[in-house]
This record gives sequence, C-alpha cells and structure tokens, in this order.
Amino acid sequence: MTPMNPLREPAPFTLGLTGMRVLMVGGDAAAADFLLSQGALVHVVDAAPDAGVRALAAEGRLRLDCRGFVPEDLDGVRMCVTQPGPAQAAAEASGIMVGTLPVPSHRTGRASLVGAGPGAADLLTLRAMEAIRDADVVLYDRLVGPDVLALIKPGARRIDVGKRCGRHAMAQSAINALIVRHAQAGRHVVRLKGGDPFVFGRGGEELESLRAAGVPTEVVPGITAALAAAARLGIPLTHRGVSRSLHLITAHGSDDRLPEHDWTALAQFVQSGAGGTLAIYMGVRTLPLLAARLLAAGMAPDMPAIAVENATLANERRMPGTLAGIAEAVATAGLDGPTLVLIGAVVAMANLSADVAAVAEDLAA
Ligand code: SAH
Repeated sequence: MTPMNPLREPAPFTLGLTGMRVLMVGGDAAAADFLLSQGALVHVVDAAPDAGVRALAAEGRLRLDCRGFVPEDLDGVRMCVTQPGPAQAAAEASGIMVGTLPVPSHRTGRASLVGAGPGAADLLTLRAMEAIRDADVVLYDRLVGPDVLALIKPGARRIDVGKRCGRHAMAQSAINALIVRHAQAGRHVVRLKGGDPFVFGRGGEELESLRAAGVPTEVVPGITAALAAAARLGIPLTHRGVSRSLHLITAHGSDDRLPEHDWTALAQFVQSGAGGTLAIYMGVRTLPLLAARLLAAGMAPDMPAIAVENATLANERRMPGTLAGIAEAVATAGLDGPTLVLIGAVVAMANLSADVAAVAEDLAA
C-alpha cells in the first residue's frame, strides 16, 4: 500500500499487521496512514472526522463510521488506536492491544461568528473574508449568497443549516451543538450569517453555547440589512433636524406572529420633534398588522415608508409608500424575499431614480 505522504520519514520499525483488524477511535490521518502501510484493515469511528480521514475513506482505503464509539466496535479487533478514554479502557479490559494517540493539544479548535453582510460579496469585511477562507467548516444560512460561499477553501466542509423565518432546516440547539462539536475536534468553525451576527441573527445564543463549552470565539461584524438598504436608497438613517434615533425591530415573533412592541413609544420616537427612524426586519408577513398598530399609536398615515427586497443583490426591488399604504404596496408587488422596511421622515430623502452607487460614480467622473 502506498503511504499517503511519500516524503514522510520511514517508520522506525514495522508492525506485522497484515490482514489484521485495527480499530481507530477518533480519526488521525497520519496514524491511519501508518497502520495502512503496515497492512492493517483499518476501521475508524469518529463523530466528526477531519478532511484527511475522510479522504482515506473516500479512496476506499479504510472504513469510516461517523459516530461515537460503541463497545461492539471492538469485536474481532486485534488492536485499538485511540486517545485515552472509554475506548481505550474497553480495549484494555478485553485484552486488546492499545495504541495511544496523543491528546491533540495542538489542535485547539475555535469558532468565528461571522457577518456576511446583506448579500453582495464586496460588502464583506476583510476580516470576514479571511475567516471564511481559513475555515475548516462553514455553517451557513440561506441569506448567504453564492459569491460569499465561493470564498470557502476547497476541502472545507460546508453545512447548510438554512432557515428562513417559519421554515427551520435545523433547530438552533442542533446548530449550537454542531459548532461546538467541530471546534472541539480541533477545527476552525465559521458560523456565517447574513448581515450582522448580533442583529436578529441568534448569534448571542451561539456565543453563549460556545462560551459554556470553553471554545475560543471571535465575532466578526457584518453590514446589517438596515444599513445596506439605507445606503442603496441614499437614505441617511439619522439626519440633523430630521432623525435623532434609529430603532431596529423585528416583526416576526416565535409563533410567526407580530411580536409585542411598545407601539406608542415607537410612534413617538419617529414622530417627535427630534424625529426617528424605524428599521423593520422580517416584516413582510406581518406588515399590515404592524402598520395598523403604528397608526393606532398615533403615527401619521402619510409618514414616508419604503420596503427593500434583496438589498444590494442583482434582484433588488424597492416599494416606496407611506405608513398607510406600504403594506398593500408590498402585498401587491408580491415581495417575498428578505425585505427590510424603513419608516420615518428621512425616507422622503430616498433616491429611487437610479442605483445610488452608479449616481455617485457619475458625479465623481
Ligand atoms: N442578521 C441579519 C438579519 C437576519 S433576520 C442582518 O443583520 O441583516 C432576516 C431579515 O433581515 C430579513 O427578513 C430581512 O428583513 C432582513 N434582510 C437580510 N438581508 C436583507 C437584504 N439583502 N435585503 C433586505 N432585507 C434583508
């Protein structure tokens, strides 16, 4: 059998393992390669095998089961190679030869909670780009576009935990556990999220679970949808004399309904002399009720409002209107992609005639 790495130093001795069954609990590609070179029939059991072990399995050189160890794995086995732990103890108890792998202290994993921005890949931060390129495992949402995913290095694992309000592909607790598990297996795990991880992204829950597991974690901020949409439209979210505050609110509650907010306070923030801007996330479905609540709380029916779907992407759409009319406008246009709604006097400053970036380029020329 050809060794995986021909430049590797020759083994100091040979083990006559030809045809013998060797169980490896917790895959280690270099150790597996050595066992194979000694003629062993290698069976690896590892809940989260690394790329090297997966490659050997894909080549058909060893048998791989992606799960934890069970005592039956030792049936008919002559040697068990593993880190100190239950498999080692069980092997010793059955009189099976044990090869001890070093505890991989050099392989401390880590996690990055990375904001992918609103969609366009060139709105990633440089730090986000570096994290994505470095990642061994990337868990991503449906909001993350193909241009961003194209930065993932070949051989890295991509896991689509895709969820869009209402349709959860993977439960949050399962995502939390998966990030921790891959990090504890020594990998750099990137949890890639649309916009910013800490703005309606459940990044806080993931961070709590990583902290509890003692996994070193960095958070890389991203451009959140409200900032991206406002930039596309040329709407300053705060503006001297017009808006002194910005509220990011979610219109999607745990049971798919409009969550409770202090509507009177929100209406006052927007309407008061100081003025304010509301940025509404996940608001397409509940927009009729949300608008009704704000009207009932005293907000003017002609308060400027605008909905932006797929902001910064090629299929971006914009629906301008007023508080009283925006819900119907959105429904009529059939917006069903990720849509951000802005409400407030600053919305009247929107430049709808052209692509704002293109206008800026024209002015510079
Ligand atoms: N963490 C994300 C928000 C996730 S919640 C962020 O910081 O942007 C999902 C909601 O974000 C969508 O329902 C929509 O309201 C908004 N959103 C995300 N990307 C968007 C985009 N490109 N255009 C418009 N709205 C977007």
